Amino acid sequence: MIRQLLDRVFGRNSSTPASAKGVSSSSPRIITREQHGIARDHIHPCALKVTSGLQEAGYAAFIVGGAARDLLLGLEPKDFDVATDATPEEVRSIFRRSRIIGRRFQLVHVMCGAETVEVSTFRGGPSGSDENGNSLHAHADEHGRLLRDNVFGSQEEDAKRRDFTVNALFFDPVREELWDYLNGYEDIKVRHLRIIGDPVRRYREDPVRMLRVVRLAAKLDLQIDRDTAAPIGDLAPLLRNVPPSRLFEEMLKLLLSGHALSCVVDLRTRGLHHGLLPMLDVILEQPLGERFITLALKNTDERVRQEKPVSPGFLFAALLWHEVLATWNARQSAGEKPIHALHQAMNDVLAVQNENLAIPRRYDAIMKEIWAIQPRFTGRSGRRPFRLLEHPRFRAAYDFMLLRCQSGEIDMELGKWWEAFQHATAGEREAMLLKDDMPRKRRRSRGRKKSVPVDTAAIDDTAAEAPE
Ligand code: ATP
Ligand code: MG
Repeated sequence: MIRQLLDRVFGRNSSTPASAKGVSSSSPRIITREQHGIARDHIHPCALKVTSGLQEAGYAAFIVGGAARDLLLGLEPKDFDVATDATPEEVRSIFRRSRIIGRRFQLVHVMCGAETVEVSTFRGGPSGSDENGNSLHAHADEHGRLLRDNVFGSQEEDAKRRDFTVNALFFDPVREELWDYLNGYEDIKVRHLRIIGDPVRRYREDPVRMLRVVRLAAKLDLQIDRDTAAPIGDLAPLLRNVPPSRLFEEMLKLLLSGHALSCVVDLRTRGLHHGLLPMLDVILEQPLGERFITLALKNTDERVRQEKPVSPGFLFAALLWHEVLATWNARQSAGEKPIHALHQAMNDVLAVQNENLAIPRRYDAIMKEIWAIQPRFTGRSGRRPFRLLEHPRFRAAYDFMLLRCQSGEIDMELGKWWEAFQHATAGEREAMLLKDDMPRKRRRSRGRKKSVPVDTAAIDDTAAEAPE
């Protein structure tokens, strides 16, 4: 309250949070509502409640990062993050429904109804760099990657530790002002994606920023600044030092951005795909593999843009399918039985992927189910198609099979049959069934001696129903 009073008496700059937590060396450019055009009613009520609650308690509070950027670009923000000069404990004491999360760097989640707003205290970045642009920060590995960045700082420092100028804008919804320390507003106007500070040092501090360049440029339709793009090719190998779980998190954002296809193409051109989706480059070089992945990504992008649900498990199953297929074929050529070979191939591929990309184990089950069902689509006689229709994963497996048809891997006729079968009446379904030459049990009892040549499109799908 005292702060608010001072604020009123001395004008807005007296509330500059740097006064409380650090020294700000330059003041921000303050852009007014008339210039930027964002009204406070664009802000989610929960975020508005949090920012005004903090300000009423005498703290600085702004909407920051992606939300401020998206509003300026005329997009609807996914979520609203708040930055403040109040410490986590101070934030916690203001909002009854709030809790402190995180150990390394504490954040506060403030809840209003079903909504949660994340509140972070202004943070400082690394302490600087030498004349060669090398980080002087004590908590960096030998490549310059920051291992700790958990110190409070001033608002200006908080802007500078962010990744891109367009992500470093602060919007005060109470005064409807935009605070800009790094020329992010102009960059947004000319749709420019520019990294803050020296690009090489910033990528060394956190190589994931290279992936963020690709994702944000595609998602927001921004031009990547020349100096921001230039070092990426050379520094791409640094991604190998990033903990797999972080890599996975950023990859997932990229794949579910609604622009996955253009991102993957861009990652390839910049040499960033190695080690992200191991063997993706090999797969993309095979015409069938490339067609399949392109279709899968296109499909995902369309679903995201139509706001339909997307299953990451389905997408990973698609990205890895040609790897499974190649391993499966190799195992069959080595004499393994088809279904056994398929299950072994699935395990082989997942073991490699879990290690490199850290696809969490929770996705294994769905990926395996989608793959294991594939041979069952060839069983179109007797009760088998009816049983398959009842399978809880039928829909996902069917969509997956259609992608295989569209990519030319299997005959489109199979996809058309299943499409018709699903929508047919009971009588029509019976009429559609293919004639089984002989019931399976009798055929077995007659004891076929000769081994059947391996044909993935004609596997004994009864066996596929019972994976080991
Ligand atoms: P999206 O809308 O896709 O979520 P975003 O910019 O909000 O994009 P987040 O991952 O939610 O991305 O990050 C929130 C903010 O945190 C960013 O706007 C940026 O200011 C900062 N940030 C995120 N990742 C980094 C990073 N690797 N280095 C520096 N700052 C980062
Ligand atoms: Mg965000």
